[in-house]
Amino acid sequence: MAGQNTRVIVIGGGIAGTSAALALHRAGLEVLVCEAHPRTAGDLGAFLTLASNGMKALAQIGAAEAIARVGFGLTAMNALDENGTELVKRPMGDHADPLTRFRCLRWSELTAALQTEVNAQGIELRHAAALVGLTEDGSGVTAELADGTTVTGDLLVGADGLNSVVRTLIDPKAPHPRYAGQRVFYGYTDQIAPPSEPGLITMVRGQVANFGYTISPTGQVYWFARQTADALEQVGVAPSAQLRAELIEDLRKDATPTADIVAATEGILVTNARDLPDVTQWSTERVLLIGDAAHAASPATGQGASMAFEDAVILAKALRDSENQGAALKLYEQLRRPRTQHNITASAAMTGRSGAPLPASPISDEELARQLDWESTL
Ligand SMILES: Cc1cc2nc3c(=O)[nH]c(=O)nc-3n(C[C@H](O)[C@H](O)[C@H](O)COP(=O)(O)OP(=O)(O)OC[C@H]3O[C@@H](n4cnc5c(N)ncnc54)[C@H](O)[C@@H]3O)c2cc1C
Repeated sequence: MAGQNTRVIVIGGGIAGTSAALALHRAGLEVLVCEAHPRTAGDLGAFLTLASNGMKALAQIGAAEAIARVGFGLTAMNALDENGTELVKRPMGDHADPLTRFRCLRWSELTAALQTEVNAQGIELRHAAALVGLTEDGSGVTAELADGTTVTGDLLVGADGLNSVVRTLIDPKAPHPRYAGQRVFYGYTDQIAPPSEPGLITMVRGQVANFGYTISPTGQVYWFARQTADALEQVGVAPSAQLRAELIEDLRKDATPTADIVAATEGILVTNARDLPDVTQWSTERVLLIGDAAHAASPATGQGASMAFEDAVILAKALRDSENQGAALKLYEQLRRPRTQHNITASAAMTGRSGAPLPASPISDEELARQLDWESTL
């Protein structure tokens, strides 16, 4: 159906929204992206890892080279126990090719690079354009923006993240994000050089936290700690001195470098891990949720951004290959629900909330590769 002057309004210029815009543009659709933030995007300052499946999805929409220039590559991981004993060391993902290698990068760098690509493709991206309302009928969908203006299209894609406004507009009874049971701390420091090697990310299974660290090519230690505890009332930069001191004290129970890494870090960030397991309504006739708006997982699997990139490619292909929009949205949901639900369940199991064993993947690597391959028909 591509090429029939279909106009898509994408709400949210974050990870899912920008990648969807690039994919839809590649499929020949006219796209407008509306991003609430007045500049690049709002952001905690945290970093994330992009997995090989996400990089492969980006390659399908011509964005892998741009993202491979941002941050740095990860080629191997090792895991230490609380005594600092190495339990395992193995290569990560498809590490031989820089375009499919895991990458470590700041959220802001990733969004900025994706928005630069959107602009470079000539796709319209409006900032300070927050959606506050929407209406749809047989002839189209209209988005109402906070500044009082409206925009219309044939399809509206809600890529507005975990606290999605689009989600509650299409279903006022939609669930709200839940606390996934862990606080997540982040920091960066060049004041310490813990044992590492280029491209290695070290995971420490400590007594009181899951800790990860890697060292950037410029010698900066990037670290995170996931700690099971009650949700915090205040999140963001520089938590109280007490919170920082408690984390360091807890980490000192392990014979690993983690406490010293945190002690060497000045500005610490913290957030509550949340997820969104049961969004039953992903779409209406002219509206579709993608990314965290539809299927946010807790951070443990490190797959949220990669899932959004996969969403983008499969949505664009579904619209390109289906007879009409209704059939495309149905096909999209049929393909994406099992995969994204599996990620939510696996992440919850790793976070320790469900206590369940890790579920088996609902889709083989070969079938996923086929679905993502731009040249194949869905
Ligand atoms: C602590 C933590 C660690 C994580 N670590 C990883 C990791 O290592 N690897 C990984 O792959 N994923 C990770 N994730 C998950 C990943 O960050 C998300 O899955 C990803 O950001 C989802 O992208 P999104 O575009 O759907 O939502 P977002 O990134 O939240 O983007 C939504 C965008 O919509 C905009 N917006 C919101 N409301 C409106 C509105 N009304 N109108 C217009 N625009 C609006 C926002 O400003 C924002 O730019 C982590 C998440 C957390 C919380």
